[in-house]
Amino acid sequence: MKVPILELSLQHQQLKEEIQQALDRVMNSGHFILGENVRALERDVAAYSGVKHGIGVANGSDALYLSLLACGVGEGDEVITSAFTFFATAGAIARVGAVPVFVDIDPLTFNIDPSQIEAKITAKTKAIMPVHLYGQCADQEEINRLAAHYRLEVIEDAAQAIGATFRGRKTGALGTMACFSFFPTKNLGAYGDGGMIVTERDDLADKLRTLRAHGSKPKYYHHVLGCNSRLDELQAAILNVKLPHLETWIAKRQAIARQYDVLLSEQCPEVVTPVIAPDRRHVFHQYTIRAPRRNELQAYLKENGVETMVYYPKPLHLQPVFEYLGYREGDLPETEKACGEALSLPMFPELTAEQQQYVVACIRRFYGGG
Ligand SMILES: *Cc1c(COP(=O)(O)O)cnc(C)c1O
Repeated sequence: MKVPILELSLQHQQLKEEIQQALDRVMNSGHFILGENVRALERDVAAYSGVKHGIGVANGSDALYLSLLACGVGEGDEVITSAFTFFATAGAIARVGAVPVFVDIDPLTFNIDPSQIEAKITAKTKAIMPVHLYGQCADQEEINRLAAHYRLEVIEDAAQAIGATFRGRKTGALGTMACFSFFPTKNLGAYGDGGMIVTERDDLADKLRTLRAHGSKPKYYHHVLGCNSRLDELQAAILNVKLPHLETWIAKRQAIARQYDVLLSEQCPEVVTPVIAPDRRHVFHQYTIRAPRRNELQAYLKENGVETMVYYPKPLHLQPVFEYLGYREGDLPETEKACGEALSLPMFPELTAEQQQYVVACIRRFYGGG
């Protein structure tokens, strides 16, 4: 049996005709940039998140970058974040000229450990950028308490977590703003790059709309330095077809996660299954276990046709590009440990029960179970 980590073509098969028609409408209209499809998606994603504004941009990385710019974060400022995340999180901070300040993770949720944030706050700190990793929100209670106390902005990296909640509130309604990615593999994926920022704040929404168009306002007059970063109509048209299905897909991911939990706890006591904090709704962008002898397990699974991924093998504080920040191995022990243990198993709404059973049977065999 072959089990891919993700099989995007299955989703396309379900929506093929509707998507084709939506694309035809855009192509026949001749309007490709910032038109009615982008506006509709901005309105609907904002409403879905429970906030006022959505601003479509070229990708999730730019969503983070532009959010920092809109908050006035730049040269000499510090932004507190996790080192156990995709590069774009800290990359965006460095791109605006600020310094990423890394805090270790909570080993249970893989998210930033809120109890270690306060010690890293200095006079230069401007923002906290929590990452809702794998689809589960960071502990926003303590993050927001610190942000209010020290007057910091909270920019959520929600690239993996559209639809996730903390105490009933969705990502986007938890901080100053949240950034989504529509990269094809994300829970709401386009057929190319795409991203969006959502926020309740009118002033920031206005700034972001200007920044994504070279800071042009009025047209051809530039008071601030922006860039060209827009979501295009074709991608927005596809996402408008997909958004109404997002809740169904999340429910399927959650059911698959529960099934993995049951099978793994019965058959593979060696591995640690994901922990969902009681006040959160996990949307399972990834189903990530901790596994002893992880690299050997991954190789064994590959030999047996099961594709898995390591998100992430090298923490950001030890990346060569951030050497100038002066971190050393051992500075963030839980982050470094997770890099050696985390393994993401096949996870997509169309994954079958038979495929799941096969994945778990292979893991059981690897650890010497019959
Ligand atoms: C995917 C991702 C991004 C970047 O999104 P792109 O659309 O690929 O630029 C940022 N942060 C995290 C945590 C991600 O998973």
